[in-house]
Amino acid sequence: MQEKKISACPLNCWDACSFKVTVKDDRVLKVDGNKDHPETQGNICSRGRMLEARTNSDLRITKPLKKVADEFKSISWGQALDEIAEKMRDIKKIHDPTAVFHSHDYSNNGLLKNLDQRFFNCYGGLTEVVGSLCWGAGIEAQIWDFGNSESHAPKDLFNSKHTVIWGRNTASTNIHLFSHLIEAKKRGIHVTVIDPLNHKTTRIADMYVAVRPGMDGLLAIGILKELKRMNLLDLNFIEHYSYGFDEFENILDEISMSEIVASTSVAEKTITKLAAIYSGGPTSTYLGLGLQRYANGGHTIRLIDALVALSGNVGIKGGGANYANLPVSQSFDMKNLTLSSKKVQKRTFTRMNQAEEILSNEGTPIKMAFVSRGNPLTQLPDTNRVEEAFTSIETLVVIDQFMTDTAQIADYILPCTTVFEEEDIYHASMYHSYVNYGPKLVAAIGEAKSDRWIWTELAKRLGFGDEFSYSDVEFIKMGLKSLEKKGITFERIKQEGFIKLPVQDVPWSDFHFKTPTGKYELTSIRAINEGKEGKLTFQYPLEFDQKEYPYHLLSKHPERSNHSQNYHLINDDQVIIEISEKIAKDHLLQDDDRIVVHNDRGEIQGHVKIMKNSHADTINIDEGRSKPFGGSVNILTHSGQSKIGLGGIQYDCLVNIRKI
Ligand code: SF4
Repeated sequence: MQEKKISACPLNCWDACSFKVTVKDDRVLKVDGNKDHPETQGNICSRGRMLEARTNSDLRITKPLKKVADEFKSISWGQALDEIAEKMRDIKKIHDPTAVFHSHDYSNNGLLKNLDQRFFNCYGGLTEVVGSLCWGAGIEAQIWDFGNSESHAPKDLFNSKHTVIWGRNTASTNIHLFSHLIEAKKRGIHVTVIDPLNHKTTRIADMYVAVRPGMDGLLAIGILKELKRMNLLDLNFIEHYSYGFDEFENILDEISMSEIVASTSVAEKTITKLAAIYSGGPTSTYLGLGLQRYANGGHTIRLIDALVALSGNVGIKGGGANYANLPVSQSFDMKNLTLSSKKVQKRTFTRMNQAEEILSNEGTPIKMAFVSRGNPLTQLPDTNRVEEAFTSIETLVVIDQFMTDTAQIADYILPCTTVFEEEDIYHASMYHSYVNYGPKLVAAIGEAKSDRWIWTELAKRLGFGDEFSYSDVEFIKMGLKSLEKKGITFERIKQEGFIKLPVQDVPWSDFHFKTPTGKYELTSIRAINEGKEGKLTFQYPLEFDQKEYPYHLLSKHPERSNHSQNYHLINDDQVIIEISEKIAKDHLLQDDDRIVVHNDRGEIQGHVKIMKNSHADTINIDEGRSKPFGGSVNILTHSGQSKIGLGGIQYDCLVNIRKI
């Protein structure tokens, strides 16, 4: 009999959708949105719908695999786990736990996915990845400014008079905000989009500003200069609730408007209009996740935060510098779940630079690596070095559902379950503050097992099985311990399908910030206490104004694939290189011409698509494409680190092109 059951999206995305999934005869037939969910309201994207194909695909890995003489052979779970555990035991005896490296990301989420940390903590430690390929610099920046990164509840947008969508293509990556923008326009709310790329969100905007990539912080300074010139800064906020304004004011005076106009490609009259928007609030600002992928990315977020704060748009309904919503994940009892106190030895590699760290001969050598919830060979910057690094490791264990670029070079592949084959709860610390329930709907395909089962079986073999002698539900309850006293229990989440977590709808409304001074900090005391430069400044990107490489390369998220997850299911093997009209004109290019994009790190070939009205020096190649489908754009990107926070700088990337 066909039934519709509640479930939830596990993908790394702003929206954390609730699903209604049609199931028949132990098979998922269709994934739809759940109309009853107060925030996601039945609307889901194609990436979520494709979880049906990901679950039922014939390309799934269904048995543990071991590479023997360059070929994968099926082996039993017992053999795979015994051999892996034995290697881990030997490595610990001969070296120390830090000779084992865990490279993970967030491709497939759920509370129980955090048990990987519990496993390695009980092992005695490891070499682990820190920082973020994505929002690391921006999170740190907001922690310096506000004391945390907190967003307004989604529907608070309707209290705005103006909204500014700064570098976020909501139509593709935050679809419920996009729906709200369409409704906001009907209600007379003025929508501005600032972005180098002209995309679906810019097309509904009342005003579109095609800023030069990496220059968003300088544009924020320009708007602040205009506010100051027009005596429209919020003097009450500056006097009572901010720290470090005098020092910051010097920056506003030092940088000339002519430099700002020349470097940002934004006309002075547009900057004046933006100043009017910010002073005519409430004005909400929604920041995207490309803004911070530069060496100067943390500064960019800090400068946009400063614009929002000093124009009087913090702590009020309809305002906010909406970036992440960390109180959502901070609600869970992660210490209890991950047993962080058990970690004895630890070393960290930054996520974007893990290849260089593996290849360096410093300290304990990496003898074994686990890859879970990630595909470093496609997603990490500077692909050639990443491949060199991961192939150099003696034993590489990959936990995945499919044969990714990374799985191809593994020694062992352990097949894992999809969201519909396991029970868990799901949330995202990005937009709304609901936690969603996802039951086990169908039996796992072949011999696929949940990540929890894999860690448990390895733990038993390594002598700490007691710490894993809990069921899925018992582990979920462990993570919910901190919420129980607020009445949020597993039983309620299961029964109701979703529950709002105790997260404020309008952050900072008491104007008491979680910084060392209790004020909004333009000069960060937290940074100074850590021995860093706490002054708010502007810095140019690392790669800027180079004759040999005149174009900025961006690599936004693909529309139909969550990073590298779906290219093999949609059989999309044509690399599309989006170029501005000016670049097309200068190189006499037309749609579908073949070109090579190159820099010192590598090159990639593809077909031209001309972008109308985007910034003149901008090229985009969507990220996530694996080798059989044309190769990853990361062959061109930089593996450096942002100056604030441990963030990736993939957008800090200049290139040139040549026609084939
Ligand atoms: S990927 Fe995002 S928008 Fe799409 S279904 Fe999942 S949570 Fe919703």
